[in-house]
Amino acid sequence: MNFPLHDGSCGHSCCLRVENLTVRIGADAILKDVNLHVHCGEMVALIGPNGAGKSTFLKAILGQREYSGVIAFSTPGARSRKPRIGYVPQSPAFDPSDPVSVADLFACCMSRRPAFLGLGKAMRQTVLECLERVHGEDLIDKRVGALSGGELQRVLLALALEPLPNILILDEPLSGVDVEGMAVLMDMLDEIRQTYDLSILMTTHDFSLLPRYASQVVLIDRAVLAQGSPETVLRSDAFRQTFHMKGDLA
Ligand code: ADP
Ligand code: MG
Repeated sequence: MNFPLHDGSCGHSCCLRVENLTVRIGADAILKDVNLHVHCGEMVALIGPNGAGKSTFLKAILGQREYSGVIAFSTPGARSRKPRIGYVPQSPAFDPSDPVSVADLFACCMSRRPAFLGLGKAMRQTVLECLERVHGEDLIDKRVGALSGGELQRVLLALALEPLPNILILDEPLSGVDVEGMAVLMDMLDEIRQTYDLSILMTTHDFSLLPRYASQVVLIDRAVLAQGSPETVLRSDAFRQTFHMKGDLA
């Protein structure tokens, strides 16, 4: 994969800077002193066991959790502007019998027009253009509840990309997606990353894809246990101990 080169000093190419991030819920420290720099155009994977604090970390970045420490964004050309964050939440459940279509879902999210009035011609064209980014134009009239795991993730991804964000955050986008669909989704994310020079931060349990797609991996369990290239983290003692692995994955 092609990743932008960095000299390690960050400067203007640092898109997201997290320093000494601590999140407490009641007396419990869910996350302690987490540090992470995400550079522009980088794909960073956050891994860790269930309950490690991965989703909490993402929610703190999204402004949905109180924290101490620093979360700072650098948006090129507009330092003072608030960053746009695209967010794909963890497997939202849709009722399989619900009649809501993909077009209806976009209409609800993108316009104030009630979905039951249908989509105007211009709006339908806009939705098609959004779906084109994820090669999903053919999904526009499908019922959301009838989508496969991979199709649903592509639709949610298309929603998160409109308007184009400064950073894209995905919480376990590969869960509920079959093995073939995982590669399709990761290729798509990689294409989007390169096309828009977008920084992507995602959580996952699918470690085998990391060497191919991620530039940086962060292993957390309440605190950072290992951090660096996929090879460094997947070969670390911390990784083996956390997941009770006997051999290397990288
Ligand atoms: P992960 O995404 O890595 O599985 P989470 O960030 O969802 O982990 O949760 C980390 C820990 O924080 C868990 O022990 C969870 O029970 C706890 N936690 C998360 N959100 C809340 C909350 N709103 N109230 C109380 N505890 C929470
Ligand atoms: Mg989670």
